[in-house]
Order: sequence, then C-alpha cells, then structure tokens
Amino acid sequence: MLKMYYAKKVKLLLNIEGSFVNHVVSNLFALLMIVSLSLTALCGQIMEPSYAPFEQYQHTVSYVQAKNLIDNYLRLDAEFDNYISLAPDHLDIFTSPATKQANEPEFTLFFGTQSSPVEQKKLQLFNPEQPLAGLRIALDPGHLGGNMAQLEERFIDIPVQNGKSACTFNEGTLTAATACYLRDMLVSLGAEVMLTKGKPGQAVYEVSFNDWCKQTFDIHTEADWATAATQQKLISFLQSDAIPNIENRAARIAELVSLSSQAAATRLKQSLLRLCYNQLDLRARTAKINDWQPDLTLALHYNAHGPNSNYKTISANYNMTFIPGGIEGAALRNKTTRIALIRFLVTPIVEQSHVLSLCITQAMTEELGVKPLKTPYPNSRLVETGVYARNLALLRNTESPMCYAESLVQNNHDEAVRLSQKDDVIDGIIAPSRIKQVAKAYTNGICAYWEALNSNSVSPQS
Ligand SMILES: [Zn+2]
Repeated sequence: MLKMYYAKKVKLLLNIEGSFVNHVVSNLFALLMIVSLSLTALCGQIMEPSYAPFEQYQHTVSYVQAKNLIDNYLRLDAEFDNYISLAPDHLDIFTSPATKQANEPEFTLFFGTQSSPVEQKKLQLFNPEQPLAGLRIALDPGHLGGNMAQLEERFIDIPVQNGKSACTFNEGTLTAATACYLRDMLVSLGAEVMLTKGKPGQAVYEVSFNDWCKQTFDIHTEADWATAATQQKLISFLQSDAIPNIENRAARIAELVSLSSQAAATRLKQSLLRLCYNQLDLRARTAKINDWQPDLTLALHYNAHGPNSNYKTISANYNMTFIPGGIEGAALRNKTTRIALIRFLVTPIVEQSHVLSLCITQAMTEELGVKPLKTPYPNSRLVETGVYARNLALLRNTESPMCYAESLVQNNHDEAVRLSQKDDVIDGIIAPSRIKQVAKAYTNGICAYWEALNSNSVSPQS
C-alpha cells in the first residue's frame, strides 16, 4: 500500500497519467527515489482537481458563447473533439474517446442565460494620478537566471564578432530586473503588486535545485555527479515513465553515452532541471499566484529564436504574447486540463487575457519599435497578430486573466548588443537600461487594458 501511495503521489506531483504503478513496483530504486521525491516535494499544495467549483456556473453560459470560445481559442486540433460533445443545451466532457463513445461524461455543463455568480471587479472612482488604484497585479519573472542560467539553458553567450565585443547575459536576470522596475512603476500608479520571486538565481519552489538533488538523489559533491553509479541512477530516473516526455528527453538521454563523465554530469544536471525541477517550480509559481488572487497576472519572458540560439545571432526580432487555450486533444487525457477547459468556458479569463495581451503587444510595438509576430507558431493557435493561445502549464492553471509575454528576440543582432549592456542597476541587479523600455510597454499595456475593461469596451476581434 505504501508503494501505491507514493506512486500516486508522484503521479500527482508531476501530473502524469499512465502505467507508472507497475513500473515502480518492479523497480526498487525508482521507488526509493520516489519516496524521497514525494516527501521533499509534496509539502506544497497538491489537491485532486475537482469540478465542484464550477457547479455555481451552471446555466450561466450560452451555447453560442461556449462554441465561440472553443472555435476561436480553445481547440488546437481535431482530436480535441474526441473529449467533448456540444449539444444545444449542454456540453459534456469525457475522460477518453472510449467514454465518449459509451456516452459516459465526466462532467456536464448546462447552458443558460442566468447571470454569473462572480461579478466583474470595476474601477470605483477614476483618479488620473492613480489610474490603477485597486488593481491587484501578479508578476512572474520567468526562469531562474543568475548563477543558474547555464544549467537551465536560458542564456546568451555570443563570442566576439567583426570587432564587436562578446554578448553575455541571461533571460532570468533580465526578467527579474524588468519585474522589479515594473513593480515600482505599477505601484506608483496605484496598483497592488506581487512578485513571485525577486533575485536572479532564485526559484519560487521552496527547495533550491542543489538541495533538491541532495534530498532526492543523495548527490552532495561535484565528484558525486561524475561517478558512473550516479550517472546510471539518473539515466534510469530520466527514462522512467514518471518523467514527462518534454524538452527532447530521448535525445538528451541518447546524447549522454558519447560524453565524458564531466560533460555528462553537466548534461544530467541540465536535464533534471528542465524536465523535473522546473515542473515543481512552475507549480509553486501557480500556487503562489492563485493564493494571492490577483486581478491579472503577467509572466515576463524574453524570446530566443532558432536552433543554437544561445550562441548565434539572427536578423529576426519580434514581440509575442501567449494566452490560455490552444489545447491539443492529447492534453485532455489529463484531468487538470479538462478542469481548466471548463474554467475557460465559464469565466471571462480567456477573453480578458486576449484584450490584456493585445494591449501589451500594441504597447510593445510603440515603446520598443519592434513589431509583433504574425506567422503561425508551433503548438499554439494564432488568435490575432502577436497574440497566441497556448496550453502552457502556467496559463492552464492560473485562475486570473493572464498575459505570458515574450518580448524581443534576445539573439537578434542589435537586441543582443542592447540587452548585454550592464549600464543600469535595478534593485541591486546589474541590467541593461533597455529593460526599462520593456517595463514601460507593460505599464502602458496594463493601463490601456484597465481602461478598456472599465469603459465596457472589451470586444476583442477574433
Ligand atoms: Zn522564457
């Protein structure tokens, strides 16, 4: 029973469904790791997702509203329709194509014209000096940055070219500095602001990556990482069904055999960080945001474009934003995604995220002199120039309107030079002054959104 308990916990932890239990029972080593993984990682809030919060929304959404949301934002592929069925008076959601075939819905949402139980927060009294008074804004600076940037594989390191000096910087430090500067701008306009994290190098998850490795894998020193026994243990772990099939998992594992023990140690650290630790950190970010109950959430990121983008400049430069939606059918095997789908149908989160992201995209074009992307983007659905619906974990699980913004292309020739400047200090973080323009764009976009919401002119084109 204990084995089953931990197997269930780790499945919840990494949000994985599949034939994991059998694998665990047959693999003592995996079990030991899962025990410690569970004990160290499960102190956070992990609750079985439930449809109960949506009962109050029964009969509040019309067929036309639901169909528009599905057609314009939520459906990414044809397989999506294997998990839902839409009738004039209700929508059924199914756990699998087989349960759809058998007509055994997991949840039914009844359509109707009753008013929503949750009222839209409105501006009480407009004060031109404090136009954001009363607005609660969560800022999530993407990635870890600082001394973790190489391990998390989010850095730019472009060598000296044509007499120009080297460009070395990283995304997590840029986002931390941008968020700190942006917080001060928003607070000066009356907003209440919460940052999920402050300093570069920090995670939101309560255990640092190094401590997590100690607790989970009993790795204490650099020498430990390089031993054959440790490396074999970690490869087995990465190969287990418990680990999500993301970030080129198979290619990462295949590559290890050709590396020296030192290079393999680095690659294993990177893989554990990207495939496992990052999932825990994203979950901690979402929990922190949802606990605070913001009116809107902004995830701050900077783009990188093309293969080998850490080391190579290119000519492309653009801004883009992601909003909730763009759900692939395969993702609906997962209950948390099915729950999110219902949340997107009964609340104004998706449409408000669209307006917010459009306002931010337009402000970025004006402030940064860089156009939005308008061509299709992988795993996402183009909603409008610069605005894409995508089923990212943070977008899926955050319970407020949200803009997940990717400003500028870090490895663009000119942008790399601008972003590598160390000409400013923001909250003790050495940063390029370019990030102040990015923060200004976010501020202008948020002000435009809040004004639009309060003037009842929220009508995104689809
Ligand atoms: Zn990023």
